[in-house]
Order: sequence, then C-alpha cells, then structure tokens
Amino acid sequence: DAIAPADIEKLHVLGHGNGGTVYKVRHKRTAIIYALKVVHGDSDAVNRRQVRREMDILRRTDSPHVVQYHGFYEKPSGDVAILMEYMELGTLETLLKSNGTFSEAQLASVARQVLSGLTYLHAHKIIHRDIKPSNLLVNKNMEVKIGDFGVSKVMSRTLDACNSYVGTSAYMSPERFDPDSYGGNYNGYAADIWSLGLTLFELYVGHFPFLPMGQRPDWATLMCAICFADPPTLPPTASPHFRSFIGSCLIKDSSQRWSASQLLTHPFLLPPS
Ligand code: ATP
Ligand code: MG
Repeated sequence: DAIAPADIEKLHVLGHGNGGTVYKVRHKRTAIIYALKVVHGDSDAVNRRQVRREMDILRRTDSPHVVQYHGFYEKPSGDVAILMEYMELGTLETLLKSNGTFSEAQLASVARQVLSGLTYLHAHKIIHRDIKPSNLLVNKNMEVKIGDFGVSKVMSRTLDACNSYVGTSAYMSPERFDPDSYGGNYNGYAADIWSLGLTLFELYVGHFPFLPMGQRPDWATLMCAICFADPPTLPPTASPHFRSFIGSCLIKDSSQRWSASQLLTHPFLLPPS
C-alpha cells in the first residue's frame, strides 16, 4: 500500500490539525481525488508517533463508517503521509457552522452511522478516544464516517486501557478524570459513547453542552462540570426518545453506560412505525 509521492498532486488545503495538514489531492494516473494527511518531518516526535499509530489502525479497518485508508508514503525528509478517501462535505463541525443545528431525524441518521462505525471498532478492540464533531466526516451522499485516529488505542489483554493517554479534550468522559468514582477506566470503550452523546447534544443545541453559548472551555471549570455536575439536559423541544437516547450515552458511571451495539437498538434509532 505504499504510494509514490510523485504520483500525488496537491490541490489545496482542507484543514489543519495538531501537527498535520490535510490536503485535497489528485492521484495523477487514475485522476481519483483523495484526502492526504501530511505530518512534516520537522514536527515533534509526538505528532509523528500519532500519525504512524493512525496509519496502523486505518490500514486494518474496513467499515462503511470508518474513513477508508488508501495508502501511505514516507519521504527521506521524514514527512509521513496517509492517503484516504475524500469526504466532500467536510466535518460535522463545519456543517453545524454552515447549515445550523440538526433536526432529530438528521441526528438519528448520524447516530446510526457513527454507532455502526463504533460497533465495528470496539469489536476489533479499537477505542477511538477523540469522538467529536470535527472528527466525524461527511461525504456528498451524506454518509458519516469516523476519522482522525491520532489518539486511538488498540486494547490489549491487560487492563492498562486508557492510562497512557495524556491528551485532554472537552469531550472526555468522567471516568477519564476519576476512574474510581465512575466505573473504572478499563471499559475504555464507554468513553467513546460519552463523547458521542456530547457530540449529538452539541449538534442539536448548536454549542458545546457544558458551557453557555460561545464560551471557550476553561479547563478547570469544565473538568468540575463533567465530574461533579449532573449530565447536561436537553431543552424542552427534545422528544422523549431523543432525551432517553442522550441520557443513555451520558450516564456518568461508565459501567452502566450503554454500549454501541445496545444503543443501535434504542427506540430513537428505530424507523417510525
Ligand atoms: P484536530 O487536532 O483538529 O482533530 P488532526 O490533526 O487530528 O486535527 P484531522 O482531524 O484528521 O487532523 O483533519 C483536520 C481537518 O482536515 C479536518 O477537520 C477536516 O476539515 C479535514 N479532513 C480530514 N480528513 C479529511 C477527509 N478524509 N476528507 C476531507 N476533509 C478531511
Ligand atoms: Mg481532528
């Protein structure tokens, strides 16, 4: 699956992330359009390790709801790049900004697709660990796929699950801060469900749940809210099924939280009869 950098023509930048840049590119011989994530050789060791980890995970996943991997290259300069399918509409974060909040029907469709991807990943012992609107990609058929495996983890038999991850994200679950109070961190899969619950909540109300509209997260305040406050509640416009679904994702005790496959059977996701 190695590709020749000379075969790739960069068209323009799609986005910047921690340490990497994602380009829209054309494969010269086939004229197929892809997305190429490049981490430059001069970026720090953490970023380079992350892009290799992402490549290792992507190359062994094959799900309609995980962004499709198409190859990689590594240049003598140290640049590492991952070629993946191009998702024309960008991320759920950009869609929220451009089109406004999502309806319950749209969110049920998003939830079904992301949960299908998470069911696949969790069955393959992969925890994503960074589910959030900017890491969920959308193509022109409105298919939603999980991307950005930079901080993901493959579970081993030992229970060291999440201890190695020192990153911080507003979408982190209570057990990540305080495993003793919230069901332990060995069930690392549950953290992805918490993050999905917050993501769907945000797409419904238009801003990050724990904070008033537009306020940027102050880390200490946010951590206190996640651990010590009740889970956020939806506005009165939300239907009982939607409310129950979000409630099942945002159970603070990770051992009680619903799994991805359980959530796929929740009434919110069933077609109306
Ligand atoms: P961050 O730290 O912000 O999460 P990152 O370095 O982990 O970023 P990605 O999230 O993978 O990198 O990608 C950065 C941006 O590039 C995305 O927010 C998105 O706008 C764009 N992007 C990534 N992958 C694709 C793709 N396959 N198709 C289209 N756009 C993409
Ligand atoms: Mg990202």
